[in-house]
This record gives sequence, structure tokens and C-alpha cells, in this order.
Amino acid sequence: MEMKHQDIIAQMSLEDKIALCSGKDFWHTKGMDQYGISPLMMCDGPHGLRKQEAEADMLGVNESKPATCFPAAVTTAASWNVELMRQIGRTIAREALASGVDVVLGPGANIKRNPLCGRNFEYLSEDPYLAGKMAAGFIAGGEETGVGTSLKHFACNSQEYMRFNSDSVMDERTLREIYLAAFETAVKEGRPSTVMCAYNKINGEHCSDSKMLLTDILRDEWGFDGVVVTDWGAMNDRIKGFAAGCDLNMPGGSCYMERETAEAVKKGILPEQAVDESASRMLELIRKCAASRKPSGKAFDKKAHHEMARQAAEEGIVLLKNDGILPLAEGKKIALIGKMAEKIRYQGAGSSHINPTMLVQPRDVLKHEIYAAGYDGRGNTSEELLAQALDAARRAEIAVVFAGLPKNYESEGFDRENMRMPEGHIRLIEAVTKANPNTVVVLLCGCAVECPWTGQAAGILYAGLPGQAGAEAIANILYGRVNPSGKLAETWPLCYDDCISASYYGKKKTAQYREGIYVGYRYYDTAQKQVRFPFGYGLSYTTFAYSDMQVIQEETKVRVMCRITNTGTVAGKETVQLYVSQENPFIYRPDKELKGFTKMALQPGETKEAVFLLDSRSFAVYQHGWMVPEGEYRIRIGGDSRHLPLERQIHMAGIPKEQLEKECGIMTWQKDGWYGKLQGIPAKEQWEQMLGHVCVEETAHKGTFTMDNSVEEMRQEAWIMRIMYQATERVIRKGMGKITQENEAEFKMMMFSSAGSPLRSMMISGGIKGGLLPGLLEIANGHFFRGIGKMLGIVK
Ligand code: BGC
Repeated sequence: MEMKHQDIIAQMSLEDKIALCSGKDFWHTKGMDQYGISPLMMCDGPHGLRKQEAEADMLGVNESKPATCFPAAVTTAASWNVELMRQIGRTIAREALASGVDVVLGPGANIKRNPLCGRNFEYLSEDPYLAGKMAAGFIAGGEETGVGTSLKHFACNSQEYMRFNSDSVMDERTLREIYLAAFETAVKEGRPSTVMCAYNKINGEHCSDSKMLLTDILRDEWGFDGVVVTDWGAMNDRIKGFAAGCDLNMPGGSCYMERETAEAVKKGILPEQAVDESASRMLELIRKCAASRKPSGKAFDKKAHHEMARQAAEEGIVLLKNDGILPLAEGKKIALIGKMAEKIRYQGAGSSHINPTMLVQPRDVLKHEIYAAGYDGRGNTSEELLAQALDAARRAEIAVVFAGLPKNYESEGFDRENMRMPEGHIRLIEAVTKANPNTVVVLLCGCAVECPWTGQAAGILYAGLPGQAGAEAIANILYGRVNPSGKLAETWPLCYDDCISASYYGKKKTAQYREGIYVGYRYYDTAQKQVRFPFGYGLSYTTFAYSDMQVIQEETKVRVMCRITNTGTVAGKETVQLYVSQENPFIYRPDKELKGFTKMALQPGETKEAVFLLDSRSFAVYQHGWMVPEGEYRIRIGGDSRHLPLERQIHMAGIPKEQLEKECGIMTWQKDGWYGKLQGIPAKEQWEQMLGHVCVEETAHKGTFTMDNSVEEMRQEAWIMRIMYQATERVIRKGMGKITQENEAEFKMMMFSSAGSPLRSMMISGGIKGGLLPGLLEIANGHFFRGIGKMLGIVK
């Protein structure tokens, strides 16, 4: 690879080059005046700008500067509108420019593997094609302004349980087809300036140590030429990190393993070239950001950006059910019910938490005669609250109930305990729908929830986490001023147990990705499981007809066309979805896979043509490389994954069965076992057969604890870690004051993030230097005096 900035690098000492590749403090990289190097500022992302000017933290607990809070990814992804993502990326980047921020830490392209992941609200989809395209849109819009973006968390970071040191174990095909594919599209099409490597390991190797991930795949295969930055505290081994192509260690302040890295270079263990290449990439990023920095200090147009946030919510809100009650007729007597109508849940907790420039409440914009809270801030109800709600519902013509998940139920830092809404919300919906059948439920939550009450509600609107202007968007849709056009970017199963990974997800440090490629609709649709709402689903106030499908096979592409007509009486938007599947595949494959989509606006009676271009990748599987198995393929088009009225078959000349079998050793167990039949739960032994090795659970015990273990993991067996745990808890409690329903999620998140953080991460994130933590580790392992020696710097 050609190295840039050789002149500066030649002047720099080894120590300075290494130091340049670690931050200065929580959000900045180092400026080095002697070489003319200016510092960079990075801030979260991805739903708005979280610029902290005083106390910094990675959990969104301390105050940040007011910025526009856009809907969370769960809602913007449901827009299926790449252009909208571009606009959001561009607008957030403009706010960054106005604030002197160089890199925005987002978007998150991790796959929603299971509905309980606490961070699902921040991720785009269960489908890699959709997630990749939407992430690429956001990145392209941001980068257009000259501000850098950071595609995160690379890769396979789909659970919050033990998020700092879990191990995602999966077969190569699953890795490539599901968990890397979204990143691949986002890198190739969006061209981010930076990629953030994840905390977890993949198949036993830390992402920050992985040359396979950060160089062989990301740079050599996908052509990424920017900076790889660690997630905050994710660096494992700085020496391996340089060798792997992990450039920047964030946050700064700890000088983590810098001395050891310089020694490794001097001893010839690490080639200096690796450090130079990282330094060169850092210099290029600094140059690029400096070129677009406009020190105008001019405030951005808050009102205009708020309007953008409203439009974004309007595109992503999904109408799930409508017995004809919606849009609401003007002049009807409405009862507004549910505490969330007074205090909207509009964003998620954690590093993406924004301090909004303004905030509109549903109660202020939805015309109503009566209001009743129905439940409290924790989601609990009482006989009294229920009685008030029922009275309100009975006195009105229509009841609009706001319900969903309070912030204590879903957050960065921990996974949800189950897929249910709070008991109080469910009881309220059940009671109100009985008292008044004309009830519309508006759901505010960052991920799928169980909705056993679906049959009782006349209408259901899924607003997700709709951002600071969400209330206006909800009102506009309820009253028909805007026609809903969002479609689910994830399947909603009937209940959690229907989710294939339900019995083994999120319970272990060694995360077994046993279901392989069968994530989301790839499982539900192939196994023909009944679901509450399918992938891609969403209703409109108008209707659409699909016709005239044509397929033309060109030399390297397949051109697919069809016509969509708005057959209703109001203008609307339809997301046309194209799915591909192989007929009687000889290697296990899902019933269908999304390979194209386009969102189109249609006036009543209007017809438009949708055109899709498929390439070989649209038909390919990964078997030590992308290849198209020869055979018959079905191309289906429609408005959601379970309603595909148009269909054509084509033959693809590809790798014949015999050759594929010979080259890849494809065995019959695939057909007869779980992966071929999808019956029951994938057994560990069969999964290991596919993996090609036995999966050993990682455990931690006294005597063998390492810097990769956390206080939480060690406290059972090590008294010193019990003391540290208690001290951590005391410090956090003291800092937060009283733990109330308002800050309960933050408390939980801070506890998990501190006590659950490996000691090496604690050093990096806490800016802790020297032998303190290595010394405590020695004591935890039973070497008291050696530990004291390390702390005092007497023992190495
Ligand atoms: C999160 C990242 C975030 C970073 C900085 C980490 O804990 O995983 O998404 O960008 O903190 O706040």
C-alpha cells in the first residue's frame, strides 16, 4: 500500500508515532505542534450529536450540548429510504461542523440477531442488505460535508451481555453472509473515513487483534482506506493491534501498552512499517478533516433541523393494524391515555443519548378531550390509575393509548429480560380496548415486543423511538395529514420463544451463533412459522397493485422490472421489495433473501415502474469465497416478505452441484439435519459439526485470571475484586445521588460498564497508568506481595 505523509513520518520518533495512534483524552486525538499535527474531535452519533464539553463519558449520562435528536435507527431504518438516511447523515454532520467536531461516531450496522439485544434500537435491521444500504446512505451524506463518520461496531456485536469481552462464535458462511455483509455494503458504497472495531471477540480473537478482519477483509478485500478506531476501551493488545491494522486507540490518556509497543519494534517483534502505516492513515484523516473544518462557529438552523427530524419520523413510523379507525376523523371526541403521551419515550439510553434542541409531547399536539396517565414512569399501574383510564375511554368516542417500553427496559449496556411490555401497559391496553373497542395503540419502543392484545385494538401504530419531533409526526399520521409509509426492518414474532435463538441467546460469554444464517425472516419464513408482523410489513391509507413483472438476463446483470399503481384515493408511498431464492437448493438456503428495494411516491391512480439490477452476488452463497450455485432461482416482488404477488423463475449458470460438493466438501448432514429442515432448536453438536470444531465455554478462575477479565467475573473467587465491586458501586451511587426511576437505567448501565469491563479496558477508559490494575490482578490470582510490588512499581 502506498504510504502518504512520508515526509512527516520520517521526522517523527518511534515513540511519537505510537503516541499519535492513541487519543489525548476522552474525545480528542493528540495534536503535535512540532510536526504541524492538529488534534481531532470525535463525538457520538448516530442519531444526533452528543458533544460533551465538561464531564465526558461513553454512556450518555453527563450533559451534552443541545443538538437535534433524530429518530433512532429502529425508526429511520423502517423508512427504507436511503435518500432520507443521506439527509440525516448530512444534517448531523452539519451540526458537527458548526460545533467543531471532526468525526461522528455512527452509524451502527450490527445485525439484530435477537429481539432482546438492549442496543437493537441503535441498529438498523435483521437483514444485512437493508442494514448495509441504509448505513451507506447515512455515511455518504455525512462524508459529503467533509465530516468523518465511523461505521460501528465491526463486527458481530449483537448482544449487550458481557459486551466488553464476549466471544461471538460462528461459522464462516454465517459471518460473511449475515454479520459482515452489511458492513461490506456500507464500506464499499458509503466510504466512511473510519470504522470502529467492536469490543467482542470473533471465534476467540479480539476484533482489535484481528488481521483477518481489519486488514485482509476490510482493507484488502473491500478497499477501505481510512482509520480503524477502537470502540472506547476495546483495544486488547496494542502490539497485535498495530500488526492487525487497528490504528487508533480510544479514549486516550492511559498510554496503554505504548512502552511495550516501542520495545517490540526495537526487538524486531513488530515491524516499524506497521506503526508507520497507522500513523500515515491518522495523518491523512487529520488532513482531510482540517481541510473541511470551517471555524464559523455559526449556529445551525434549529427549526429547520427539527423539521427534518419530524419528516424522518413520518417516513419511519409503521402502521401495523387498521380496522378502518385511522386516519382519525376530525371533530371526534378523543381520550388520550398513557403516561408516554405526556412524557414521550423518543430516544434510547446510552452513548447515542442526545440533549434535544426542543421536545414536543403528544399531549401538546394531539387534540383530545380527556387525558389519563394509566400507568406510572416505571410502567406500573394501579386500580386507581386503571379506573381513571377506563372512565376516560368510556367518555370518549375514540381512545388513543400510548404504551411501549420505559427506558429502564432497553438500553445500551444490558439486554432486555424478556420480550414483554411492562405489566401495567398490557393491563391498561387490555382494559381500555374492552371498555372502548375504538382504541388505537401507539407503541413507543426500540424493538419488537409481544402484542398478545393485537386482536382487541382497532389500530396499532409503531412509532419506534421517533426523536424530538416524534409527537408531531405521530399526530400527522393519526390525523391523515401524512400517509404512513414505514415498513418493519425486523420481524415481530408472536412470542419470544418463537425466536430461534431464544433458548441460548445472551446468557453466556461465549455466544453460540447456532442458528447460523437463519436470522430474522430467514428463519421464520423458511420454517413457515406464524409471526405477529412479518419483515418488511407496514400498512398505508391507500392501496397498491403490482403488475407487469419482467426479467431480462443480461451478460453480467439481471434486470427486473414491474409496475406499481396506487389504487386508492390518497397519495402514498410504497416500498417495493425484491427477494431471491433458489429452487431445491443442494446447499441449505433460506426461503428468500432481500436483494433489492425501492420506495416510490404515487398519487391516486398513478403508476410507476420499479427497476432492479441484480448481479451475481444477489444469487451467491459464501463457501470459502462467493459463488453462485447453478440452478433455478425464484425472484419475487411485493410489499412485504409474506406478500409477494409477482414472481418469475430464471436459470442461473453457476457452479454445478458436483463441483461445489467436491470443492467445499458439502455433506448430506446439511439436508437431513437442522440446517436443512429447521425443525426444533439447532443442537450444539450439529452446530459444532458445521463449525468444524468443538466450542469450549470460556471460564475464568483464580490463578488464571488475566487483564481480559472483569471485576464482575472475578469477584466470586477473589476478595480483592469483591472489595473493588463494592467500591465501584459506592462511587457510582454517590455520583448519581438517589437511584430513582429516572436514572435506574443509567445506574444499571454504569454498573455493568464498570464492573463488567475487563481490567485492560478499565485502564484505557479510565486513563489509568502504571501498575495499579496489574497489581490488583496479581492479588486476585492469589499473589498478594507480587501484586503490591507491581502497584509500587518494584515488580515488573
Ligand atoms: C459505545 C460506542 C460509542 C463509544 C463512545 C462505547 O461504549 O459502544 O458506540 O461510540 O462508547 O461513546
